[in-house]
Amino acid sequence: MAGRPYMGIPREMIPWEPTVDPEKCIGCGECLNNCPNGVFVLNEEEMKAEVAVPDNCVVLCDKCTGFCATDAIAFPDKEETKKLVIRLLRDLRAKGVTREAP
Ligand code: SF4
Ligand code: SF4
Repeated sequence: MAGRPYMGIPREMIPWEPTVDPEKCIGCGECLNNCPNGVFVLNEEEMKAEVAVPDNCVVLCDKCTGFCATDAIAFPDKEETKKLVIRLLRDLRAKGVTREAP
């Protein structure tokens, strides 16, 4: 299922999502417990977190990194993502696309 649009931009146009380094993940489950959007699942065979629904991740949120004791979660560059959002917003406005309610 597609994520919710971000400031009117289709969510799939913004590549903001966590990645989990399986070498570092110890399967503690803190990321699952602290993400309100169900982005992660725990692979119980491997005891590793996996990203199950990347588009549910809130654009520019990186809260879960603060709960991971082993630094296993990474995100794209925040400043580059902000620049991309600004470019996409300009493009949408140039095309006359109305901003949707958040
Ligand atoms: S918080 Fe970190 S170590 Fe714990 S399950 Fe999530 S990614 Fe793995
Ligand atoms: S950044 Fe926020 S929304 Fe995205 S996976 Fe982490 S806690 Fe969930």
